[in-house]
Formats: sequence, C-alpha cells, structure tokens
Amino acid sequence: SLRFISSSFKAADLTIEKNPVLKPKPDPSSLVFGKQFSDHMLTIGWSAAEGWQTPQIKPFQNLSLHPASSVLHYSIELFEGMKAFRGVDNRIRLFRPMLNMERMFRSAERSCLPLFDKVELLKCISKLVEIDQEWVPYSTDASLYIRPTFIGIEPSLGVSRAGHALLFVIVGPVGPYFATGGFSPVSLLADPRYVRAWRGGVGEYKIGGNYGPTIAVQSEAAKLGCQQVLWLYGESEEITEVGTMNLFIYWTNESGEKELLTPPLDGVILPGVTRQSLLDLAREWVSEYEKFSEDKRVGELIGKGDFKVTERRVFMHELLAALDAGRILEVFGAGTACVVCPVGSLLYKGQTYQIPTMQNGPDLAKRFHKELTDIQYGRVQRDWAPLV
Ligand code: PMP
Repeated sequence: SLRFISSSFKAADLTIEKNPVLKPKPDPSSLVFGKQFSDHMLTIGWSAAEGWQTPQIKPFQNLSLHPASSVLHYSIELFEGMKAFRGVDNRIRLFRPMLNMERMFRSAERSCLPLFDKVELLKCISKLVEIDQEWVPYSTDASLYIRPTFIGIEPSLGVSRAGHALLFVIVGPVGPYFATGGFSPVSLLADPRYVRAWRGGVGEYKIGGNYGPTIAVQSEAAKLGCQQVLWLYGESEEITEVGTMNLFIYWTNESGEKELLTPPLDGVILPGVTRQSLLDLAREWVSEYEKFSEDKRVGELIGKGDFKVTERRVFMHELLAALDAGRILEVFGAGTACVVCPVGSLLYKGQTYQIPTMQNGPDLAKRFHKELTDIQYGRVQRDWAPLV
C-alpha cells in the first residue's frame, strides 16, 4: 500500500498515557531551577524512512539511547525555554509561545533535524501543560518552566544528517529568579579572551553546543567574584549578551538624548523573546508619547516614552566612556528566567567599574518587569499571553 509520509505530526493524533503515581508537589518557596520535574512528558519520534510518529504524552521517564546516538557525539541538539504562568484569575497562560516555536524551527533547520508544524507542536505542549496543570505553581512569583528539546539519535558515528530524531518536552516548577523578591544587581566579568559566538557561527540558534563551553568561563567569573559573564566579540570588543540574557543599556547618548540601546540581531545574538517584548513595549510607549506631545501634554508623559529606542552594535569603549561621563542610567539583562536583571558592576582588565543601575531606580527596568509580569499573570489582558 502507499505510505504517506506526513510532513508534521498532528496534535489531534496525541496518545495519552496517564501516570498512575503522582509525585508530591514541592513547596513553591523551595524551588531550585531545573531540578524538579512534573509527572508527564511529551515525546515525538521521527525517522527518515517513516517520517513523524504520533505524539505521545506519557509518564515522565528516562530515555534509552543507543551509545552511538549523534546527540551524544556531535551535539545534534537544540532546545527552547519558555514558561506557563498561573494568573490572578487562576487561569494558565503562556507568553508569546509562537516566538519560541519559530526559534525552535530555525534551530531545527540549522541542525539538519526534521521540520514540523509549529502550531501543532504548540498544541501538543499546551496539552502537556494542561495534563500537568497542578504543577503550575499557585503563586505569582513562580511558574512552570517548559523545556522543549530536539535531538538526533541516529545510531551511527558518521558525521552526517541524523536519520532518526526525538523531540521531547519536559516541564517543572521554578521559583523567582531573585530569592528576596526585590531586584538585586549582578556583577559581570568582561574578558575579551573569551568569545561566546561569532559571525558566520551559530550564536543565534538555541543549540546545546553554544552552552556547554560557557560553563568554564562562568566559573572563571565566579572565581573572580562575578556572577555573570558579559560576552564581548571581536577586536573592537562589541558588547553582545550577558550570561544567558540579552543586554540593554539605557543612557544619555553623546547627542544628549535619552536612549534605550540593545545590540542588533546580526548573527552573534540569540533572538530573545524578552528582548523582542521590551523593544515592542518601548516602541509603543515612544509612539504614545509622540502622539501626546503633539497635543502639548508632554508633562503627563515625561519619563514614560521620552527616549529613543535603538538596535545597533555597542562597543566596550562606548560603555566605559559613558560611565566615566556619568551618562549611564541603567544596564540590565533580559531573559525568560528573570524578565530583567539589573547590572551593578563590571570587572574589565583588572578594574572594577560601578554601574549606577540601582541608584537610578532602576526606573525603566522596573517598569518593564511590571508590564511583562502583569501580562504573564493576567493582571493586564493582552494577546501576548494566550490561555492554555
Ligand atoms: N541569550 C541567550 C544566550 C540565551 O540563552 C537566552 C535564553 N533563551 C536569552 C538570551 C534570552 O532569551 P529569552 O528572552 O527568549 O529567554
């Protein structure tokens, strides 16, 4: 008979095997990132010969892999990081999940892994979250972290396209990034000897190979008393990212204008969902401000959107000169883990530079944090946060 090799799995074909033994849920105040997992997982197999298998939700369990599996040797692996939030209305929301699906799709293309229908994957993930909904913390300080993962499992040592692959999704509750609840600033190590990604490389994809090699640099930072790495690139020491976050600088530029600055998506930067959201919000505030300023009601909106929003390359020498001139208002990282994370100091070539982020509120970082968490926890309705 003719075999139809479907180009994607379909959520309508999901099979569900419920776990007969449910684990006790941890206390939301004791959560450690990435250590607790729910009762179920989603798996979807693929082979070149047979195409996608039907998606399965089943009890959380170990994988069994052939020791030659390509993921174990050549790092044919990609992943995503997203969250589900229990809102003040007790309903569960995701946050701009299609941006994660699109990024995952691009990572799959770059990894020569099979493509899939992004909407169908999101439907499967939503079903997993629904089944494990009791694992979404009853807290507006915590959330359910969702880790979609895609690996090549070809049982062969040849360096070639995997003919077998496994897409799986695991989820687990995570607590607030800042244990104390309030913002606390991080210290950064900026050492131009270490490079995270380069033009022509794969820094813009969320693939495992980008992350393993950063751990040694992170522990070098810790040895020097710094909490995160500020990743520089090239002879000109472009400032690219901070740890696993995108970087924002809010300053008074050389023309005397207030400006929110972030590096562009030009190959060495991971296109963060949080980064995109901060840019979208900031541009909305700016256009609101401009509308009102024509009405000469500027006064009401001062401090809201009276700044420029710019994506361009930013260099270490610019940051140092602006610090020296007292033009830096706030420096912060942006990512799913923390939303925004203020930067308090920088260790560069043996010298520590203080960054006055906290002394300046940080007004803008706090405003972004409030706007995004209001949407995530359903205090503000917006189509960015679809219900599960
Ligand atoms: N940069 C890197 C290197 C990251 O790993 C992440 C986390 N995915 C981010 C930035 C922030 O991306 P997002 O806002 O999508 O979490």
